[in-house]
Amino acid sequence: MEVMPNNLLCGFALYQSELESKAVEVLRSGWYILGNELKAFETEWAAYHNVKHCIGLASGLDALYLAFRSLGIGAGDEVIVQANTFIASVMGITMNGATPVFVEPDEYYGIDAAKIEEKVTSKTKAVLAVHLYGIPCDMERIVEICKKHNLYLVEDCAQSHGADYRGKKTGTFGVMGCYSFYPTKNLGAFGDGGCILTDRDDLNEKLRMLRNYGSRMHYYNEEVGVNSRLDELQAGFLRVKLVHLHEIIKERQAIANRYDTGIVNSKIKKPKCRPYTDCVWHQYVVRCKERGKLARYLEKQGIGTIIHYPVPPHLSEAYRYLGIKKGEFPVTEEYADSVLSIPIYNGFTEEMQRYVIDAMNAF
Ligand SMILES: *Cc1c(COP(=O)(O)O)cnc(C)c1O
Repeated sequence: MEVMPNNLLCGFALYQSELESKAVEVLRSGWYILGNELKAFETEWAAYHNVKHCIGLASGLDALYLAFRSLGIGAGDEVIVQANTFIASVMGITMNGATPVFVEPDEYYGIDAAKIEEKVTSKTKAVLAVHLYGIPCDMERIVEICKKHNLYLVEDCAQSHGADYRGKKTGTFGVMGCYSFYPTKNLGAFGDGGCILTDRDDLNEKLRMLRNYGSRMHYYNEEVGVNSRLDELQAGFLRVKLVHLHEIIKERQAIANRYDTGIVNSKIKKPKCRPYTDCVWHQYVVRCKERGKLARYLEKQGIGTIIHYPVPPHLSEAYRYLGIKKGEFPVTEEYADSVLSIPIYNGFTEEMQRYVIDAMNAF
């Protein structure tokens, strides 16, 4: 049997007729940027979170970049972020000229709240919590720390659409929640996309101005902004999928549950959902000391896997200038050397799940 690590065609097939009608509808509308589909999606995604504003953007990276920019965070400022994240989380900080200050993750792959305060300095302006793999961070303690030190809390929800912590959705705990709608994400578009959620009216206005060349009114530009807009086709596709997000999440949780009960192998450490949270399983990430051997073993049985992520940002070429040496973040580095994402996607058959479980157990 051939099992791909991810198969977007299966996710498309689930809602094919609705998506195709939406495509035709938008194509025939004659309006492709900043129109009614975007307005409707922004209203619906904000309402889903019970938040006042959603600002549609061109990508998740833009969301992170514009979040810090709209808060006035730049050169000389520090932003605390977990060391084990996708590098875009860090780029959103450094594109503004600010300095990332890394913190090790806890056993749930989120920022280790117990290690945040020791990194707070007079330059710290914000904490970026990344709900990696769809597992919410320790929000109660993080919110408390941000309040105590008067720091902005920004959430990177690129992998946590619809996840919640004690019944409250990720993306609603801090000043802004940043989302990506990249096709592989749980709420994925069919091209690039992203957004920011916020309750603050002033930030909403500022972000709308920044995403459109720094202009509030056509051809009157108050700042050097960017071109970062969620287009009508993508907004329309996202509206179709949003109606089904609940079942998209339920299906991923069912797969994770089958893995959790089915995989029993002392060489393999399974991921855990933090207590009082509803995880949405963007990835199902196991750890194994013999990761290379496990990946090759699965590959031989036709099962594809991915490593999220083999190089932590602080050890990447891009951030060599920060001068952080190997060994400074041992937990993060240990995760980078042992994590392996096994197949999980919408439309993934139970037969294939069984096959993956059997292979994991036979290793
Ligand atoms: C995907 C992702 C991003 C970046 O989103 P893009 O839309 O690809 O720019 C940022 N942070 C995390 C954690 C992600 O997984």
